[in-house]
Amino acid sequence: MKYIEEFRDGDVARRLADRMAREARAGRTYRLMEFCGGHTHALWRYGIVEMLPPEIEMIHGPGCPVCVLPIGRLEQAITLARRPEVTLCTFGDMMRVPARDRRSLLKAKAEGADIRMVYGSADALRFAKDHPAREVVFFAIGFETTTPATAVVVKQAAEQGMGNFSVFCNHVLTPSAIDAILGSPEAKEGRIQVDGFVGPGHVSTIIGSAPYERFAREHRKPVVVSGFEPLDLMQSILMLVRQLNEGRHEVENEYTRAVVRDGNPVAIALVEEVLELRPSFEWRGLGTLPDSGLRLREKYAAWDAEKKWSIPYEPVADHKSCACGEILRGLKKPTDCKIFGTACTPESPVGSCMVSPEGSCAAYYAYGRLLKNHRRPAASGEA
Ligand code: SF4
Repeated sequence: MKYIEEFRDGDVARRLADRMAREARAGRTYRLMEFCGGHTHALWRYGIVEMLPPEIEMIHGPGCPVCVLPIGRLEQAITLARRPEVTLCTFGDMMRVPARDRRSLLKAKAEGADIRMVYGSADALRFAKDHPAREVVFFAIGFETTTPATAVVVKQAAEQGMGNFSVFCNHVLTPSAIDAILGSPEAKEGRIQVDGFVGPGHVSTIIGSAPYERFAREHRKPVVVSGFEPLDLMQSILMLVRQLNEGRHEVENEYTRAVVRDGNPVAIALVEEVLELRPSFEWRGLGTLPDSGLRLREKYAAWDAEKKWSIPYEPVADHKSCACGEILRGLKKPTDCKIFGTACTPESPVGSCMVSPEGSCAAYYAYGRLLKNHRRPAASGEA
């Protein structure tokens, strides 16, 4: 299949692995953060982590939208869904994320709340059209990849004068998360050490590669925007190793078949028209970050579920045994969590990172938990 098979060629993968092993310098460590949860899963699913030389360590980033949504926002969704007139439309994985006291949208549904699983915002809008007597709320989450799809349905609902549709908007921004990690106290103390970033592919199809140029310049960290097939990732990692060896910190684009420097101008303009920055937004693991989340503009207030229903926000702490926060900041790996694979499994998740198909705990559980050695780099590296 075009654009699939040529990016999964085992011989090419072995040659790339040999090249990495030759070019990675003994005695230094290359700590590379893959921002995106889709990349984390690809690294484990295709066995790439096992092909890397010991000098290269992959650190998993916060790029999983289900994982970074804090429990307080999930509690708001449950409160909304319990209103008798409301039908809450949500992505399937969101339904299983544990909220306060191990509640979830799935349990709320079992208790009688009208909660429907959808594959996208268009499904929710269609449901609202087909059920004019119901107040249909779309539980919108995601990074810049899915934000345009939310903006489209808000605009369509406004154009069609649909009064029974609204959006509970939880969209967040990738650059803010990278800023938060690189500017965190742990990074300043050297407890989080990231030498370079595998940049998100899907997000970059919308925003382009240009927004990373500031990080590369200010933090002196190379970024390589990567696709999701195994050869994409191996090539991107090799490109990062080469930049670090040569002392460069530039933005490079491996995913040229989908990403251009300035992104998708139509999608960017649409988002700009419908959504605006929130002054602050709480993230799981990263805390409350300024200018990191989006809400509907005043012009579209009639389709904003938070305004329509006035649901107060209250922060809720994660389960005390759950290390999702530290994992999302790159401080820990899933196997560092004391209850990984025992009290916390995909069938009975304790934290969000075990639920989502982009969560790193789910990736380790599905593809890596039976591996004897989670290899660690042998030596500490130069900056
Ligand atoms: S294994 Fe479960 S409890 Fe531990 S960090 Fe992952 S999601 Fe949280």
